[in-house]
Amino acid sequence: MECRTITGATVAKPFVEELSKQVKESGVQVKLVSFLANNDPSAEQYAQVTKRCCAQSGIIFELRKLDREKLEDAIIEANEDDSVHGILVYYPVFGGGHDQYIQNCVNPFKDVEGLCHLYRFNMYHNIRHIHGRKELKSIIPCTPLAVIKCLEHCNVYDGDVPYGNQLHGKTITIINRSEVVGRPLAALLANDGALVYSVDISDILKFHRGPKLQWSKYKVEDCDKKLEDVLPISDIVITGVPSPNYRVPLELLKDGVIAVNFACAKNFDDEIKNKASIFVPTIGKVTTSMLQRNLLRLYKYSSYRTGT
Ligand code: NAD
Repeated sequence: MECRTITGATVAKPFVEELSKQVKESGVQVKLVSFLANNDPSAEQYAQVTKRCCAQSGIIFELRKLDREKLEDAIIEANEDDSVHGILVYYPVFGGGHDQYIQNCVNPFKDVEGLCHLYRFNMYHNIRHIHGRKELKSIIPCTPLAVIKCLEHCNVYDGDVPYGNQLHGKTITIINRSEVVGRPLAALLANDGALVYSVDISDILKFHRGPKLQWSKYKVEDCDKKLEDVLPISDIVITGVPSPNYRVPLELLKDGVIAVNFACAKNFDDEIKNKASIFVPTIGKVTTSMLQRNLLRLYKYSSYRTGT
């Protein structure tokens, strides 16, 4: 079987073009402010990449480095500053519950990463609009959203089925259950109708809306399956294991599988091309375009903005 390799740049291209068009049409200087309050060199590197991507679309990206004890006040100041349309914080800052508190200090109408409680609750409960307003789509975290856009590009969503059920019949394995990517992604795909096996280092959980999609939002079940049980029945395998030594056992994959890697490390050996119908090796460019897309969406919603 011929395998198509699809790069993140290919998936991102139409979004990048649309973003530039929208920024030009808006006639304002759309501004994203990011706060770096840790000493993580990879966060700084990510900030530089984001800055370049924003510049291509005409978005102003400002990196503000500061002591972490000043972060909360700086976020509140940015919440109140009408020239700031989106706020991004590089985590971890304090870790644990303190970081969750900081995430909720960002005004939801400036929360480009979709990390505040309102958006997380909406996502996990399959609520697609903000405060029930049809004109305000809820914000989805950038990396899970980027994976979804890659799957849409691969025509995985069945356009003949009503919106919200378009992954019915698809079995998907996600190897990663982090709070930032793997768990939200499992919930989003299950809410769209897929049967999802969520794999992490210790166990496998099943996310699904029932065999006939009878539940309005996904449920999670413990499952005594192993990787060797779920990989051979998966139409799509998505990986995000942050280790240079980890490899998905290719012999377990279904012929014609769609394989997506979002980890910085390479989780699939090159021989994946002998097994997969589509291989997406990296998604970084899609993630940065989704960040900007969320920013523009929130910019359009700014008349609904109130205090935090
Ligand atoms: P994390 O460390 O928080 O989570 C890793 C997850 O992988 C955990 O659920 C863990 O249990 C699981 N895991 C680790 N080893 C495993 C194994 N051998 N078998 C099964 N599961 C295993 O990491 P994260 O924040 O989710 O990031 C994961 C990767 O994704 C990193 O490489 C990160 O750089 C990358 N990432 C990419 C983007 C992007 O846009 N491309 C965005 C965010 C993160």
